[in-house]
Formats: sequence, C-alpha cells, structure tokens
Amino acid sequence: MSTLITNVGSLVTNDPAIGEGPLGLITDAAVVIDGGTIAWVGPAAAAPTADERYDAAGRALLPGFVDSHAHLVFAGDRTAEFNARMSGQAYSAGGIRTTVAATRAATDAELEANLTRLIGEALRQGTTTIECKSGYGLTVADEARALRIAAAHTPETTYLGAHVVAPEFKEDPAAYVDLVTGEMLDACAPHARWVDVFCENGAFDGDQARAILTAGAKRGLTPRVHANQLSYGPGVQLAVELGAASADHCTHLTDADVTALASGDTVATLLPGAEFSTRAPYPDARRLLDAGATVALSTDCNPGSSFTSSMAFCIAVAVREMGMTPDEAVHSATVGGAQALRRTDVGRVTVGARADLLLLDAPSHVHLAYRPGVPLTAAVWRAGVREL
Ligand SMILES: [Zn+2]
Repeated sequence: MSTLITNVGSLVTNDPAIGEGPLGLITDAAVVIDGGTIAWVGPAAAAPTADERYDAAGRALLPGFVDSHAHLVFAGDRTAEFNARMSGQAYSAGGIRTTVAATRAATDAELEANLTRLIGEALRQGTTTIECKSGYGLTVADEARALRIAAAHTPETTYLGAHVVAPEFKEDPAAYVDLVTGEMLDACAPHARWVDVFCENGAFDGDQARAILTAGAKRGLTPRVHANQLSYGPGVQLAVELGAASADHCTHLTDADVTALASGDTVATLLPGAEFSTRAPYPDARRLLDAGATVALSTDCNPGSSFTSSMAFCIAVAVREMGMTPDEAVHSATVGGAQALRRTDVGRVTVGARADLLLLDAPSHVHLAYRPGVPLTAAVWRAGVREL
C-alpha cells in the first residue's frame, strides 16, 4: 500500500542535495510512502500516483522528531521538589534518589504503563524516535528490568547504572563502580545499545566515568555521556576521546571543550528543558555551531529536572535563549538527534528513509518557534503508519 502526501506547502527534507539550504526545503512538495519507507520526494507537480492520496492543504511537513535523550522508566512524582525549587531551593543530583525509591517499589506493569504513556505523549507531539535510559533502579535486577521494559518499546536503550551512586553504596562509591562495570553490566548489556554515565560533582568523576564507559564499550555498548551540566569538568573531553556518540548537556564548556566537540564525531546534545526546569543558565548553542560542532536538541524527559516530552518546546527555547535560528533548531531536533543516535534512516525525508513524518497545522516549520506552547501537530506517520 502506497500513499501520496501532496499539496505540502513547505517540506523539510534535511537533504541539501534535493532542496534549499541545510534543511533541504522544497515548497509545493509531495512525498510518497510505500510500506514503511519513503519512496519518492519532490515537487508536487511531478509526483507519481499512489494507492491513496492525502491532501496536506498547504501545510508544513517535516521528519518526525528524534529525541535522543530521555529517562522514561520511572515511578513516583516530584512535583513538590519542583515547587520547592521554583520557590528558591537549589537543584542537585541527589533528587534522583527520590525516584529510585519509588521505581524500585513499582511493579513491572506500573513502569511499563508510565513508559508507554510518555512515549504516546511524545508521539502526539511529533516524536517518532525516542531514546530511553535506565538509571532509576541502581541494583542489578532493577536496572536490568528497566532496560528490558524499555527495549520492548524502543531500540534506543541506554544503560545508565551510573546515574548516581546507589544509596546502599554511599560510603563506598568504588564498590558501586565495580558493580556497574561488573555484574550489573552483565545483566544489562543484552538489553542495551548504549552506555552512559552522569559525569558530575556529586555523581561520578572523570576516572570513574572512564572505567564505566570503557567497560560498557568492551561489552559492545557505545558510550554517551551526561557531561558538563552543572559545572566545568572532564565529561566532554572524555566523551570525545572515547568516541562517544554524544556529549549531553554541554552547559559549562571551556574553549578546549568546544574545540574538541568541533573536531570529533561526538554530537553536542543540548537539553534546554533541564535549564528551564532548574532555572539554570542555558548552554550556548551559537558558540558550538559557530565552531563547527554538530548540535542535537532533546527533551531530557525525566521526573526531576525536565519533565517535558515536547521537542517543539525545546526548539522554541533554543531559538529564544540559546542563539539558534529556527532552521538550526529544527535541524538539531530531527537529523541532529539522528546523528546523536548514529542513525541514517530517521531524521530525514529522503528516498529509503523510514517514513516518519510530522505534518504541522502551520505553513512553515518556523512556527515551531514562532508559536511557542501551541499544539501544532496535524498528523504523524511512524514507519509509514498514520498514528494520528
Ligand atoms: Zn539525562
């Protein structure tokens, strides 16, 4: 079964070879979906016929968002903590332990129901690929079950046993690193594609992070790093040195950090929801882009420091607060996220790509930043299936 989506006012392809500028924009465009993939892209006037026809009515079509950083397997509620923070208390990594206690106490069914609720919430806002980390279990069994549950819903699963030191190991963090690089890794590796570590004061230092990422890589997991979020530190340099797919947060960067990101293959993933929700200074996307780094935008959806699943919100904040143009922000939220996940089949509307599409109730992708907070989703296709 093939579908012709025609009368597209403005199409973001992310392929400069077939359209205008870095977004590869085509006006008065059409797309043909065949099965789960894109079969044809070009001007509507030249489009072939298909089994079905969908009239986009002059609206904007773009690749589904690729949210490359989220923490969706959890239980419990941290409304009170957010409320306290917005009333003047400072954020620290320690709040994660609140969610750990609730997550350990939850049943598999409760964790899965919360995960699918959040994936559905993201999908309704145009997110068709989403990464999901463990990190709220912090025992061998609880980390493995978080990844097992996540892997049933996304191939982009990340082992984050090194989110914080488990409360049982407070007096002996070295023993916890041994667990994370040993028995816990053995139990989690079969369910994960990536290994991650929160490299930060109060979480894991550079040496510990290196040991964790190296052990994960030996088991076939590719590194990604929570780096330089709350302070300057070794996370970004370590990520680049170890060939991590992504260094995430990048809020506090030295010139050497920026140079490293610009010269390596590691994507700088910026998570403005975290700064928004903790009233922290935003990362400087302009500085990274001007240096030549590849930038991704992601939600960091989690119950403590960024409880949003909205990529459109992140785009709007990145444009307003981080020096990105609307085109750059949309690029980072689609193909940028795909690069952060080392995926070439998503984040683009090109022949052979997975048919993941977001139709906006707007004439241009710029409306994602121009109309902040407004629900603009008109339709979503995921792997060629019309989801809404
Ligand atoms: Zn995170």
